Amino acid sequence: MCDEMLGSLAKWLRILGYDTKYVRDMKDDEISKISLDEGRILITRDKLLHKKTPNSIYVENNGLEEQIKKIFKEKNLKIDENKFLTRCIVCNEKIIEIEKEKVKEKVPEHIYAIQDKFYICPKCRKIYWKGSHWENMKEFIKKLQNNKN
Ligand SMILES: [Zn+2]
Repeated sequence: MCDEMLGSLAKWLRILGYDTKYVRDMKDDEISKISLDEGRILITRDKLLHKKTPNSIYVENNGLEEQIKKIFKEKNLKIDENKFLTRCIVCNEKIIEIEKEKVKEKVPEHIYAIQDKFYICPKCRKIYWKGSHWENMKEFIKKLQNNKN
């Protein structure tokens, strides 16, 4: 669970396959309560909120790479390639594979021509494929892994 100031971190945790709630416009007590009720680790830039919430991680404003590394280190998590791109970046739902024919009208023609696998979010209907931005993501993830050793 990421608080308001950590939008891009939340997005990246979803890309890495983690069930990530992103909360905005919420009072500290509410945020603490959700973390407790839903058994979520709270990631925050707010020291006071961190102190109030037992299961939380405080991250500095030192860039995405450092933030992710800190979380993985503290919680002893491992980057698992099988989980990459299994969740919708927008709404956190698990995406499901969809038959290629069904997305024909919904994706650009040149994408349709070269991609074979497509995925859809059951909630917002956003369609995903492992295109060029996917290669950039993999590069970034590789960097995270290399620095860890
Ligand atoms: Zn979605």
